Amino acid sequence: MNKPMKQKTCKGCREKFTPQRPLAQVCSVGCAYKYAEANRQKRLKELKKESNKELAILKEKLMTRSEWMNLLQKVFNTYIRERDKNNPCISCGNPKPKKINAGHYRSVGSCPELRFNEYNVHLQCEYCNTYLHGNLINYRINLIERYGEERVKWLEKYHEPKKYSVDEIKQLIKTYKEKIKQIGVNK
Ligand SMILES: [Zn+2]
Ligand SMILES: [Zn+2]
Repeated sequence: MNKPMKQKTCKGCREKFTPQRPLAQVCSVGCAYKYAEANRQKRLKELKKESNKELAILKEKLMTRSEWMNLLQKVFNTYIRERDKNNPCISCGNPKPKKINAGHYRSVGSCPELRFNEYNVHLQCEYCNTYLHGNLINYRINLIERYGEERVKWLEKYHEPKKYSVDEIKQLIKTYKEKIKQIGVNK
């Protein structure tokens, strides 16, 4: 009956110990508290993760179409800044502008159809973007240099109005997040 019990690893201090009871998982009262506290922290963390996920789902459900559009614009602009991060300002040629924007050639207001067109948006210094309203004459010169005149003339044409559904917007967000990740991978 008095066969010595097999040694176990204490779940509190991780040291080997000889249990007094068959189901003992810890070597001491102190380790019992320590183990219980570790479990509690783990559970709290899991709960937080679960509720963050639920909150995110709930938030998505409550988002309006225009909020989705804003989110897409944000993700798209991030993509443009990443894509062009080694390029100078598209308008003035400043090689290392302090503040950079994603600048539209045809503005969102004047041509919303090209709002998410990759030929229409480039890294631009904040000065050109904001104070020179796009510095468009120089923007055009450099666009032609980059893509040729035909592409620029195409940008300047009339474009069919586009109305994205929320699902299409979500899909674009996914696409551009993927593209941003790709750039990170290829760095
Ligand atoms: Zn212990
Ligand atoms: Zn500039």
